[in-house]
Amino acid sequence: NTNKIFKSINPFTQSVIAEHEVLTNGQLDQKLQLSELAFRNWRRTTFQERADKMKRLADILRVNKEELGLLITNEMGKILPEAIAEVEKSAGNCDYYAENAEKMLKDQYYETTFKSMSVYDPMGSVFAIMPWNYPFWQVLRYAAPAIMAGNVSLLKHAPNVVGCAKAIENMFLEAGFPEGVFQQINIDILQVENVIASDIVSGITLTGSEMAGSSVAALAGKYIKKSVLELGGSDAFIVLNDADLEKATTVATKSRMLNAGQACICAKRFIITEKVADEFVSLFANKIVALQQGNPLQFGIDMGPLARIDLAEKLSYQLENSLKQGARMVVGGEYDQCNFQPTLIDFVDVNNIAFQDETFGPLATIIRAKDENDAIAIANNHRYGLASGIWTEDRERGYALARRIEAGNVFVNSLVRSDSRIPFGGIKKSGYGRELSEIGIKEFMNMKSVVIE
Ligand code: NAP
Repeated sequence: NTNKIFKSINPFTQSVIAEHEVLTNGQLDQKLQLSELAFRNWRRTTFQERADKMKRLADILRVNKEELGLLITNEMGKILPEAIAEVEKSAGNCDYYAENAEKMLKDQYYETTFKSMSVYDPMGSVFAIMPWNYPFWQVLRYAAPAIMAGNVSLLKHAPNVVGCAKAIENMFLEAGFPEGVFQQINIDILQVENVIASDIVSGITLTGSEMAGSSVAALAGKYIKKSVLELGGSDAFIVLNDADLEKATTVATKSRMLNAGQACICAKRFIITEKVADEFVSLFANKIVALQQGNPLQFGIDMGPLARIDLAEKLSYQLENSLKQGARMVVGGEYDQCNFQPTLIDFVDVNNIAFQDETFGPLATIIRAKDENDAIAIANNHRYGLASGIWTEDRERGYALARRIEAGNVFVNSLVRSDSRIPFGGIKKSGYGRELSEIGIKEFMNMKSVVIE
């Protein structure tokens, strides 16, 4: 397959930006061998040495944030300020692990009559399969901790953001990381098994759809490799009678429409108690209509195109069917190529496709709940369990309800977002394992018990 090519297509202009060759199996083998070689040396480096390079990487990201932001925008269409913010957030994660990895991985002693402890050893190469929606953040989110811990990494990025993947690899080299510590590999789905089977690969992390997760986790099982899955979501945004509706609708708009609605943790199901539903819908609709959609490079634009035409087509199919099933259009609904109007539909019920499927684009759905208990039941009545938002002025009640929500993350009166300091991940079909914080760095370590008499 020497000739196989991945094309980067600008979703706003539909022009081909670049073509990238897929590796032959022979070339892939060389990369795997290089990974093994790199690991032998990298695992023996000190935290200080790793941290110096990781800090340099953070600096390089910050210095080049405009140019890198442009690359992101051209490859997947998010508006430039969001792209630049993503680069900055990625740099922040590099700093965070540069500063904290050593203390997170220090030996841990136990209360026994003899000396006993846990030590953390790196395991080898972490193979990452990543999506296009946050092409820098998703990568640095797993790579900064993995590499600070003494592991090396191989990245298979989504085919439409190979330019970002190459830029990240180049910056690792520029920051002084030895060749092979971080490698991006352009491979086909069929070659994924070759990588997972390879002895150097000791863990697999996948961020993407449920289908991709299931198939990769099956391969990880076949070869007895640890895996972490960050999959889809259909996050509930629950609004109770006593919520601050003005603030809730501002955050609702951001939470659903950020990145043109293409985030796993976008709020997707707005579950509103009946008493305040009409007012919520009216405030929400006004804020959605005010969003400026257009060229993602242009100043003042709030939302760019979706990343690929098939994503717009799928969303349109979901919208059409949800209306046939009884949902009512409030605003939006039109699309042209990758540009999908921010859309709000009301009177969605639990049998509706827009409730049951993950909608990966700017489509907000209102589900009216009788009361608080009904709202929680509706929120939990779902295959996914990534994150949730709850809006109530009673913070204690917010906490009590958060405990009843089936999700990996619950935010009360706040925008759901990831943060280097806080564990992030899902339950149910949203996956397993956690990224970020101290928990994230320990996912791909050999926690070795040592007993000394
Ligand atoms: P996707 O099709 O699953 O693609 C994600 C990555 O997985 C790509 O690199 C893709 O490569 C690869 N992939 C797909 N099928 C595969 C298979 N059978 N074996 C091995 N690799 C495979 O997902 P997407 O549509 O691009 O992204 C959107 C989905 O990702 C949504 O469901 C979203 O919620 C989820 N997501 C989750 C998180 C999170 O943190 N939980 C974050 C972002 C996105 P190819 O393109 O070459 O197939």
